[in-house]
Amino acid sequence: MTFIEQWLRSDIKSINAYHVPDSKNLLKLDAMESPFGVPSDLKEDFLNYIDKAKINRYPDADSTQLKSTLRNLMEVPKEFEILLGNGSDELIQLLALACNEGDLVMSFEPSFVMYEMVSKYAHLKYHGIKLDSNFDINLSESIAAINSKNPKLIFIAYPNNPTGNAFDYDAIREIIRSTDALVVLDEAYYAYSDRSFLSEISNFSNLVVLRTISKIGFAGLRLGLLIGSKETIIQLNKLRLPYNINVLTQASANFLLQDKQGILNNAQILIDERHRLFEELSSFSQLKVYPSQTNFLLVRCDDAQSLHSYLIENGILIKGFSSDSSLSEFIRISVSEPSENNTLIEAMRDYYG
Ligand SMILES: *Cc1c(COP(=O)(O)O)cnc(C)c1O
Repeated sequence: MTFIEQWLRSDIKSINAYHVPDSKNLLKLDAMESPFGVPSDLKEDFLNYIDKAKINRYPDADSTQLKSTLRNLMEVPKEFEILLGNGSDELIQLLALACNEGDLVMSFEPSFVMYEMVSKYAHLKYHGIKLDSNFDINLSESIAAINSKNPKLIFIAYPNNPTGNAFDYDAIREIIRSTDALVVLDEAYYAYSDRSFLSEISNFSNLVVLRTISKIGFAGLRLGLLIGSKETIIQLNKLRLPYNINVLTQASANFLLQDKQGILNNAQILIDERHRLFEELSSFSQLKVYPSQTNFLLVRCDDAQSLHSYLIENGILIKGFSSDSSLSEFIRISVSEPSENNTLIEAMRDYYG
């Protein structure tokens, strides 16, 4: 046994590290990234702005300017506070760290894998409530499970990843009302969805809303935000590492997120493309495409593994699921701009002949 193997927590030894597949030279349709980079008409001003960043100094610990830019972009009411994270993943971890050792975290199955991973790292228990066959919440079963298991923290991805649908709004309200747990509405895909729980924060003292800029064009900057009442955020902020948002992220995001209209336009392009891709893929009799409120589509097909391999051989990376997963017969495809989506559709035509 190596030194580190005998030294390390035994439960960590048995976990596989989060796997990111090699995407070199592939059309990347696996991770819900935006196809749009820095707009060409903003590039020069952007570089001049970044040039002023003082990388020899620690960043502004409160990210004051950036928070006000985010507040404007996402229309966060002034009575709510914002806590920033190095990606929303870091905020999921921070919420787990706020629990007592051994507390229970609950979410739904299938949902975002990070809820379970982070809970285990933080010495918490985890339970996922099964979604129904349409990937929606079974309300009475869910309330019964929550009442009997008494979780400390509940994560609800709204819309959900990897299924793409937004759960029934009133069912979620019932769940928030029925529990003493802190309920985190993870709105990573808010820009592609019809509804949000943001305004509900004033109705429920146990509700916070999590968002990120990763799915609206800025995955590389690593910036997420937790929105809650002043009282809630003041307490949770104690767990944040002091300089978690670096100088270059603060400067880049503060500049680029002021282009609110550009960001909204890009989101609308992807929503339109999602509708088109939904229709195109639905025309293959071998595929069942699920309704989506996100920038990706979940697709059921009998030959998911071989389709996944075929697309890689033809230069396209989509998300497949392992053969022991409940989603082994599914693939998940990020919606991109028109020409990249056409490349995908062509490859699918070739595959199904
Ligand atoms: C992508 C995603 C995140 C992670 O966002 P980062 O800010 O990039 O860490 C969180 N929640 C859900 C549901 C996601 O799909």
